[in-house]
Amino acid sequence: MSTDEFPTDSPAIVTCGLPYANGDLHIGHLRGYIGADAFNRALETLGQETAYVSGSDMHGTPVAVNAEQKGVDPAEFALDWHEQYEETFPKFNVDFDNYGHTHDETNTELTQEIVRTLDEEGYVYEKEIQVAYDPDADQYLPDRYVQGTCPYCGEKARGDECDEGCQRHLEPGEVEDPKSTITGNDAEYRERTHKFFRVSEFSDYLTEFLDGLEGTSNARNQPRQWIEEGLQDWCLTRDMEWGIDYPNGDDESTEDVVLYVWVDAPVEYIASTKQYSERVGADEYDWERVWKEDGDIVHVIGRDIIQHHTIFWPAMLEGADYNAPRAVAATGFITINGKGLSTSRNRAIWAEEYLEEGFHPDLLRYYLTTTGGLQQDVDFSWDAFQEKVNGELVGTVGNFWYRSLLFAYRNFEGTPDADVSEEVQERIEGAIGEVREAVNDYSLRGIGQAATRLAQFGNEYIQRNEPWKLTDEDPEQAAQVIRDCVQIAKAVAVLLEPITPDKSQLLWNQIGEEGEIADAGLEAALEAPPRNFAEPGELFEKIEDDRVDELNEKLEERVAAAGDGESESDDTSADEADDMADGDGDTDELEPLLEDRIGFEEFQDVDIRVGRIETAEGIEGADDLAKLEVDIGFETRQVVAGIKQLHDLEELPGEKCILLANMEPAELFGVESNGMVLAAGEQADLLTTHGDAEVGEKVR
Ligand SMILES: [Zn+2]
Repeated sequence: MSTDEFPTDSPAIVTCGLPYANGDLHIGHLRGYIGADAFNRALETLGQETAYVSGSDMHGTPVAVNAEQKGVDPAEFALDWHEQYEETFPKFNVDFDNYGHTHDETNTELTQEIVRTLDEEGYVYEKEIQVAYDPDADQYLPDRYVQGTCPYCGEKARGDECDEGCQRHLEPGEVEDPKSTITGNDAEYRERTHKFFRVSEFSDYLTEFLDGLEGTSNARNQPRQWIEEGLQDWCLTRDMEWGIDYPNGDDESTEDVVLYVWVDAPVEYIASTKQYSERVGADEYDWERVWKEDGDIVHVIGRDIIQHHTIFWPAMLEGADYNAPRAVAATGFITINGKGLSTSRNRAIWAEEYLEEGFHPDLLRYYLTTTGGLQQDVDFSWDAFQEKVNGELVGTVGNFWYRSLLFAYRNFEGTPDADVSEEVQERIEGAIGEVREAVNDYSLRGIGQAATRLAQFGNEYIQRNEPWKLTDEDPEQAAQVIRDCVQIAKAVAVLLEPITPDKSQLLWNQIGEEGEIADAGLEAALEAPPRNFAEPGELFEKIEDDRVDELNEKLEERVAAAGDGESESDDTSADEADDMADGDGDTDELEPLLEDRIGFEEFQDVDIRVGRIETAEGIEGADDLAKLEVDIGFETRQVVAGIKQLHDLEELPGEKCILLANMEPAELFGVESNGMVLAAGEQADLLTTHGDAEVGEKVR
């Protein structure tokens, strides 16, 4: 890995979390795949040598449980899903250089080789542990086969993951009050011998690794705390048949076990790179250089799997003498209409559904990458989607593209003969600089904003120079203005290509360019377009209100139908399995209304004020807490709020908020909190005002 800014002299690899080959893809999955794809494309425009790989996660209990319920072989079950995914990704312009799966030979061999090395280097030992067992089913109960209570936070947890509470990885035997998900019986515990990886020995290494890790801040801060609390060794094996065999097959203790799914899943990043390298030749792209010498490894994941990617995975890589990742970018979750995405409730936007509705994939790509910062949760609603598409893509980008090219075509049959003005040249150079900076900050939104702002500038530039008045009065000046506009249009297409590859390509062709815009690189934004082009067409279409009403209705009906008579907490099937990328924060039961009423006088005892957030920073050692300075007119209050994981703290300063001002002061993690910022729901949606209420005004 290099520490230089992108583009570096080393080859880069971009990966996204592996989807479990277990169910239909939805918008929560797509955020990660599209995000990583856009990042990889952006690296390419910078001139970085890079590749984008992933694969389907075929193993583990989520696949085994669902295959069993369907009465089919897990390999066959998982392969079916794998093939569907392979077909779906290109439809969203998600362009993998290689997409493999964890059950293929490359991954099986590499996984066994890595585990063998860890074993030989003394990082693996055997230990007798208590393993959950269902006597009626006559079966051990690894991972998803068992449910119980999280020993850390007391929430309901699955065997290997506290997915509704603190999101910690749980070791076999840790979950309390274990129940079998096969029969619902209380599980018994039986003693079994398992292999363990000495993760605890890597504490110092990981601390240093995290200090140098790029990506999003949540991927550094959470694991620092886990290291501080003391790392546990990691059970590498499971009592089941479906998975990759432990490499030393003759060893009696490993006869009836397979490797834990989280051992072989990330190895697919390497295996998939290797397959790509073998296909194009090592001269073109050398997987061993990437993974064993100086490659820049960038992982894009959902924030629920930070621990696997910043603790277990780098420890495995270090122990087996592979390269460390340069960056881990952990995305927030997707909510739907402000509520948690829920596959069992059908509160989701499915990949196929989106396409069947006839929307262009680039619209969703733009929405998902530019609506929030990478680590922020992003809410999807058809209304917000319409607003964003109509406002930014139709109103700003599309409008500028169409009006400037149409004017150029009608008056000059293409690009007027003139040099780009200094003002416009500088403005485009500025936008290129913003994109470079955004890529190095792992900010997809920054890339989109740089392009959209440039289009906005283009619209203002036309408005200010009124070329329609100049064509007769001052044809030379008209040619100058339109020449500038064609250049800006081309530049916007080039800058936006990582996010809207199809639409950018269309614009590219409209101005008479040949070949692929994806191969052009950022510098093409400043190169003159061809002299002539044909009459342009409009590239974006407005989404009408009645279309949105119709989509909202469909969604509501579907959620209502799925919710009939079903309580989510009773759902013991594994179709809720969160995989490496889906990020569905599935906690959406509404709290019941309180019966007790209060009088107006009691309400008047509550002093609620409009505030403005001045600073926001995470509190060290606290998973969820952030320290805010809030201006409430009379004074600035220091407040502690549980929003660290749910908001991009860097984005908060300047935002208005609502503060409960006469809350008794409290101390949290040694930080005084003098007031309470109001927020709604599990995702801590911050309350604000929508008019011009001033800071300090009372809420009544
Ligand atoms: Zn927990």
